[in-house]
Amino acid sequence: MSAAIPGTMKAMILYGKNDIRLVGDKPVPAPGPGEVLVRVKACGICGTDVKIITKGMPTMPPYGQFTQGHEWAGEVVALGPTVDEFKVGDRVAVEAHKGCGRCRNCISGLYTACLNYGDLGKGHRASGMTVDGGFAEYAVHHVNALFKIPDNVDFVQATWVTTLGCAMWAADTSGGYLAGDTALVVGPGPIGLAMVQALKGLSAGKIILAGTRKERLDIGGFVGATHLINIREDKDPLARVMEITGGAGCERTYDCAGANGSFELCLRSTMRGHPLTLVSFFKEPVPAAFDYAVLNGIQIMTVRGEGGINCKRALSLMSQGKADTSRILTHTFPLERFAEAYDTFVNRKGGAMKVVVLP
Ligand SMILES: [Zn+2]
Ligand SMILES: [Zn+2]
Repeated sequence: MSAAIPGTMKAMILYGKNDIRLVGDKPVPAPGPGEVLVRVKACGICGTDVKIITKGMPTMPPYGQFTQGHEWAGEVVALGPTVDEFKVGDRVAVEAHKGCGRCRNCISGLYTACLNYGDLGKGHRASGMTVDGGFAEYAVHHVNALFKIPDNVDFVQATWVTTLGCAMWAADTSGGYLAGDTALVVGPGPIGLAMVQALKGLSAGKIILAGTRKERLDIGGFVGATHLINIREDKDPLARVMEITGGAGCERTYDCAGANGSFELCLRSTMRGHPLTLVSFFKEPVPAAFDYAVLNGIQIMTVRGEGGINCKRALSLMSQGKADTSRILTHTFPLERFAEAYDTFVNRKGGAMKVVVLP
C-alpha cells in the first residue's frame, strides 16, 4: 500500500438499532486477492439502509463494527494481489453484489441469487450489507463488481448505477428488448423513476407512470414517462390505463411500490400473455387475484438487486445522456453531517428524493 493511505479513517458505524455514529479511527481495510481499495467520494442513502438501521439484517457484520452503504463510487488507490483490471487513479462505480463464483447460480450468471449469500469465506459479498461499504473514507470491493466511470459522469451521479442497474435488470428479466412496447410503472420513488429511465433508454413506446405524489410524478415526466396517472386524483387508474392502451393493457408492467393496490393495478393492467415484474419489496403480504393471472396467462417475475452486469449498462445510459439524475439526486451532505442527511432522506425534507453522502 502507498504511503499516502492512512492507517485509520472516518466511517459511520452501526452500533445498534437506530444508533449509527461517526468514528474517526476505523482501520482502513486492505484489499485482498482480486480486490481494490477505493477512496470513496460519494455514497447514496437507500431505503435498504433505512431498513438496516431501523431493524438490522441477519447477514450483516456485528453491531459496533459494521459500516453500511452500498451505492458508492470513488477512486482506486491500491490494488490487491492479482488485480490488473484496474489501476490506481481509476474512477469506479460499484454494484453491491459480488457472487461467490462457485455455486450453481453464480456459474450460470445469476450472481445476485448466489446460493452462498453472506458467506464471506466462500467468496460472496454484498458491499454495505454483508461486508463494510461506502459510508466511510475508504472501502474495498472485488473487481467483478467495479465499473470504470465514463469521463462525463461525476461521482455523485455514479451512485445512481445500483438503482438504475436494478431497473435495467428488471427490464431484462421481463423479457429483454422493449422498443415500441407499452409499459406501466407503478410507484414514482427512486426505483420507479429508474424504471422509467431504463424503459425510455430501451425505447419503449408509451411509458405510463402511476403514483400518489404529484412532485414525484412530475419528475417521472421529466425523465421519460409519456403518461402520468395521479392515483389520488384519478379515481379509476385502471380505466385510464385501458384508455391509453386502447383497451389492450400493457405489454409490461412493473410494480415499484410494493403495496396491495399497486400489485392489483399492475395485474389488471398487464396485457394478456405478458409479464408483470415485481421490482420493489413488499412491506407486508398482499391478497392477490392469482386466478386472473392464470386465466390470462400473465407471468409474474421478480428481481432483486442489480444482476446481469446491468450497472455497466446503467453507466452507459447515463454517459449517453439518456438517464438524467439532476432532479433525482436532490441532496448531498458531507459524511460528518450523516444524521442530517439521513433525516432529510427519511422524512423527504425539502422534496428529497435521493440523498448522497460525501465521505
Ligand atoms: Zn440501494
Ligand atoms: Zn454463488
